Amino acid sequence: MDFSTIKKTVGIFVLSMVAVSGFAQDIIARQAPSDKRLKDIRNVKLNNTAAISADLNNPAANIYTDWTDNLRSCTGAVPANYKIDLRGFCMPTTNRKINSNFGPRWGRQHEGMDVKVYIGDTIRAAFDGKVRICKYNGGGYGYYIVIRHPNGLETLYGHLSKQIVKKDQVVRAGEPIGLGGNTGRSNGSHLHFETRVLGQPIDPALMFDFVHQDVVSDYFVLQNGISKGNSVQSASTISTGSAQGNNRTARK
Ligand SMILES: [Zn+2]
Repeated sequence: MDFSTIKKTVGIFVLSMVAVSGFAQDIIARQAPSDKRLKDIRNVKLNNTAAISADLNNPAANIYTDWTDNLRSCTGAVPANYKIDLRGFCMPTTNRKINSNFGPRWGRQHEGMDVKVYIGDTIRAAFDGKVRICKYNGGGYGYYIVIRHPNGLETLYGHLSKQIVKKDQVVRAGEPIGLGGNTGRSNGSHLHFETRVLGQPIDPALMFDFVHQDVVSDYFVLQNGISKGNSVQSASTISTGSAQGNNRTARK
């Protein structure tokens, strides 16, 4: 190897290191600022590691009997007054702009909410959990991920440009799971975010307040349980935790 070849090789190596560290800095920059409450919760969890790993390997086994990679395969009635613990959450994105809400849209049901994100933005797991689905659906969600959480919720993240977790992987709240994108049936980059219990979609806005980057309350209670065919948007079947002894003031 003559001197100029060595010089070239070193040059290419240095350039690639700069590129990698630039990317890493970008990821780190997007992670800041960190959520103080999340850190507190993580500290508590260190004392409980054994119980939590059992829970994460088979999350919410009290209501789910199956573990498939079919989105709608989870069915069954939710127990009455099923209480979902929202503490330990992490907002999936730091973006606050809502492009579209849950509910009827263009003659069909929009089963989640759309939050503006840019291609490459870090998308994070909303709670500790286990990845149930990591797939591509060209006519719908694009690259998407479904995570089942010990609190009984499943969260779905759609239109990603990249998935950075794998099926059956255990993840922690706040862990990066993918990058924002515009894949599938999507017009402009955004995160399509769904919250489900036993396959039944529930309006994420009843639990997650993207504008204030917070949960609506510490607990969310499905008062009469839900099953296929019931309206899950009705106030009579859903209540936020404030009436059930929740000690935090719900944000409006
Ligand atoms: Zn959507």
